Amino acid sequence: MTDMRDIVFVGGGHTHALVLHELAARPLPGARVTVINPDPTAPYTGMLPGFIAGHYARSELEIDLAHLAARAGARLVIGRAGGLDRDAREVQLRGQAPIRYDLVSIDIGITSDLPQIPGYGAHAVSAKPLGTYARAWEDWRVAQATGRLAPQIAVIGGGVAGVELAMAMAYRLRGSAPEITVIEAARLLPNIGTRARQRLLAHLAAAGVRWRDQVQVVEVTPQGVRLSDGGGIAASLVLGAAGSRPQDWLRGTGLELIDGFIAVDPFLRARNDPAVFAVGDCAHMVHAPRPKAGVYAVRQAPYLLANLRATLAAGGLRPYRPQRDYLKLVSLGGKSALGEKWGVPLEGHWLWQIKNRIDARFMRQFRA
Ligand SMILES: Cc1cc2nc3c(=O)[nH]c(=O)nc-3n(C[C@H](O)[C@H](O)[C@H](O)COP(=O)(O)OP(=O)(O)OC[C@H]3O[C@@H](n4cnc5c(N)ncnc54)[C@H](O)[C@@H]3O)c2cc1C
Repeated sequence: MTDMRDIVFVGGGHTHALVLHELAARPLPGARVTVINPDPTAPYTGMLPGFIAGHYARSELEIDLAHLAARAGARLVIGRAGGLDRDAREVQLRGQAPIRYDLVSIDIGITSDLPQIPGYGAHAVSAKPLGTYARAWEDWRVAQATGRLAPQIAVIGGGVAGVELAMAMAYRLRGSAPEITVIEAARLLPNIGTRARQRLLAHLAAAGVRWRDQVQVVEVTPQGVRLSDGGGIAASLVLGAAGSRPQDWLRGTGLELIDGFIAVDPFLRARNDPAVFAVGDCAHMVHAPRPKAGVYAVRQAPYLLANLRATLAAGGLRPYRPQRDYLKLVSLGGKSALGEKWGVPLEGHWLWQIKNRIDARFMRQFRA
């Protein structure tokens, strides 16, 4: 059929997973759908701290893209995009033939690599992509439990993700007197209200996690990290949770970028190319900038789908207007959580149960 149009989803992030789920019930007429992702599954980061703490098995965090694609009648290509030829309308893959598109949507998340720090690539692991961290954590725990490695961990980055992961690791290692230090170049927990921040710092201290702020990591070595004040911290595991860096290859696409993220219009289309959509953490919503959070990736899904349908049928597009704030839930290691909305902190075991229910419901829909 000559008038079939090719829709290519680059990355199996949260928005694309939800769109695939919807396509199973209502396909895109006249369209052939291809999904490109490096693995047949995509991890759900909201449950990562729970996995690290030992509350969930690895399989519980996995969104089965192969299953979703099969149900949606889509082709899944296991591969990694490395470029976009917008004249030829092709997605370039690393080590594989390019894939042609009529419309392409990009949902590839961010990376928390810190390549500017000497030794980082050789001696540290990043919180994202999650698969590498999950494997490194399991290997490290085996080595630590058998006495081959000291339970000393340095976490680079004192935002919510770094603090949450530090508490999760402290909980998992309870009983083995771990030494966990969070290192932050500026102020610890900068993006959270004053009262919630104070409570989180108290929980961090109670978990035995130390922190150093206003100091930078200048080198990662096999023995730990070296700091800008001349000091150092011994660590057999160095975790990078500082960056939310966009992927480098986006720079070569000619798309309008803001700080390396794809600038999109209210319809989630790249501002300088209506054949390209971008969603989730890799996009920057120029009309309503928001922090990088899964909640926006999730909420964008119905808008992306509606706007792909509208573009194929030459119909009207729907603008996405993101909510201003959302309930931030930070797990505290054990099965309790701290939440904040509109600057008001809440806390308890019940809040963890709520988070657990939200996460379980989110994952259950993909297994239907
Ligand atoms: C520890 C931690 C806890 C968090 N907790 C929360 C929380 O409680 N609530 C919340 O709202 N947010 C949370 N976040 C943020 C949340 O994880 C992200 O905002 C969310 O995952 C973004 O989803 P996404 O759709 O942009 O893509 P992602 O979930 O990052 O998925 C991207 C997908 O694209 C694939 N991919 C990457 N590169 C390529 C490529 N070149 N070609 C093809 N495929 C590619 C990846 O393998 C992956 O499958 C947390 C983050 C961390 C690190």
